[in-house]
Amino acid sequence: MQEKGSISIHTENIFPIIKKFLYSDNEIFLRELVSNAVDAVQKIKRLSSLGQYNGELGAPLVEVSFDKEARTITISDNGIGMTAEEIKKYINQIAFSGAEEFVEKFKDAKDANELIGKFGLGFYSAFMVAQQVEIQTLSHQEGAAPARWICDGSTEFEISEGNRAERGTSIILHVNADSEEFLDQHKLQTILDKYCRFLPVPIKFGTRTEYDYDNVSEEENAEDNKPKEKEVDNIINDTTPIWTKAPSELKDEDYLKFYKELYPMTEDPLFWIHLNVDYPFTLTGVLYFPKVKNDFELQRNKIKLFSRQVFITDEVKDIVPDFLMLLHGVIDSPDIPLNVSRSFLQADGNVKKINSHISKKVADKLAELFKNDRPGYESKWADIGLFVKYGMISEEKFYDRAKDFALLTNTKNEHYTLNEYKEKTEPLQTDKDGRLVYIYTNDPAKQDSFIQSANRKGYDVLQMNSPIDSHFVNTLERKLDKTSLKRVDADVVDKLIAKDEKIESVLTEDETNTVKGIFEKAISKPNMTVKVEALGPDELPVTVTMDEFMRRMKDMAVLGGGMSFYGAMPDNYNVCINSNHKLVSRILQAGGDEQARLAKQAFDLAMLSQGMLTGADLTEFVNRSVSLI
Ligand code: ADP
Repeated sequence: MQEKGSISIHTENIFPIIKKFLYSDNEIFLRELVSNAVDAVQKIKRLSSLGQYNGELGAPLVEVSFDKEARTITISDNGIGMTAEEIKKYINQIAFSGAEEFVEKFKDAKDANELIGKFGLGFYSAFMVAQQVEIQTLSHQEGAAPARWICDGSTEFEISEGNRAERGTSIILHVNADSEEFLDQHKLQTILDKYCRFLPVPIKFGTRTEYDYDNVSEEENAEDNKPKEKEVDNIINDTTPIWTKAPSELKDEDYLKFYKELYPMTEDPLFWIHLNVDYPFTLTGVLYFPKVKNDFELQRNKIKLFSRQVFITDEVKDIVPDFLMLLHGVIDSPDIPLNVSRSFLQADGNVKKINSHISKKVADKLAELFKNDRPGYESKWADIGLFVKYGMISEEKFYDRAKDFALLTNTKNEHYTLNEYKEKTEPLQTDKDGRLVYIYTNDPAKQDSFIQSANRKGYDVLQMNSPIDSHFVNTLERKLDKTSLKRVDADVVDKLIAKDEKIESVLTEDETNTVKGIFEKAISKPNMTVKVEALGPDELPVTVTMDEFMRRMKDMAVLGGGMSFYGAMPDNYNVCINSNHKLVSRILQAGGDEQARLAKQAFDLAMLSQGMLTGADLTEFVNRSVSLI
């Protein structure tokens, strides 16, 4: 029996186009062929379990091998096999039913994946690396004859009797001159590790040397007292990775072990979420919350996307909500095609559903942790908080879910939910217009004197010191009812929260103006505006502050990176003189030179306490202080 024929396609020689066009991604040929082999093995298992195949099943196996001298790569399986008729049907025709469309459109396609997916070219990806592809196959059907198909990359093929004695299929690639790199143990191993590590059927690749310790001779100096080397089959994959198992079958150790397998050099994760969805789409996976601290960028693209255990990509941008891109782990969904492309992901309805499902699952898990073990949750907040805040900033829906388990941390390291914090601060921190004012610090060490002043007044101070907090402050202000946030150094403590009660000044209006004049002259910096205010006698005589609004605008300009209007403005400060402080009265009473010297000294102390006194000003201050002593 021998038959020659032409692959049913109207356009001549499509292979050169495929080869040339798909060149950049050519390693996926192995993923495609191994996946086909795995499918074939799973099909025969299914037929057998349905009673439609009664022959010997054998141990399911896919074998990948290469022969450097013969310049071949072989992918072999003991799956369902094909008859000559089936080859004609599945290989010759199906693939190119859309050939004309293909030729018309290939120019617009963005990448190889897109083409392969769209036109069912899985098998034909073999021609990306092979000048000739051969199929040797024996169908599972009773009495089937072995068949051989060979094609040299033109539209001509040849079908003849084959030589395969056992059920299954071997695909033999006669590697072309441009693709010699694939005739290499390490290269093939790397590709298999990437795409095939968790395939559901054992994949054998080459052999591995092991030592037989059981038969080591006891005698010293014996010729054979070394363990014997023995060759063992090298199965390169884990056929039942944890995400394919039921959560009830798994212990914490299993999750941690899998995590270490995926990310060998990382610390243990904080906790994980096992995803298991049947409806309205199928999705399994395990997502881990890593210890991240502030290593934002470094950790992205750590989630691996699979489709029926075949690795697709670790760019999950459209599937996982942006704020969860820092998570680690795997997602597997058969609803995402193998040959997934950017444009597909963006348009696909399932992908959007998966995205919002993941977001909801993460929120549920956090809510559960919070409810069941609040102390444990609080102890992890430094790490978890980053995700939660990022999520609350970027997704309205997530904000609504997270508002009950998001925590605010004050300078005493106490944690409060948003509601708890409102209750705690309401009595003392409501201003005269009924607005609640939350006070925060972004640098407790530097702003210590302000924090102490605030605490003395019974105000609580929140810690907002991570990079994300400057955004979080804005989100809270937008979301919380009648609430503003002010940095602790935005004003002197008595003005931080505007109250009705007015503190009387011990100075007359004339004296107040005189004090103002003395300080303006002593300081004489264009970006420092002097104000005289009646504060409590215990508050500092001089305080340097920056208006909250002004500071936020400047912060945003810095984050934006551009030279916006606010970014280009100099730092403007308010210098607040406490007219009720003893020192101020003393300055008033002192003589001319002494007045200026004391005013300057008091101002420099204020600058010093905020780490703002530098350069010549600092030197002068030190000299002046020495002479004052
Ligand atoms: P797809 O896998 O998307 O259907 P392919 O071009 O990869 O497209 O394969 C076409 C068809 O050829 C498969 O659907 C299958 O019927 C058959 N086939 C390919 N490889 C094998 C194999 N190793 N064993 C049995 N049948 C196979």
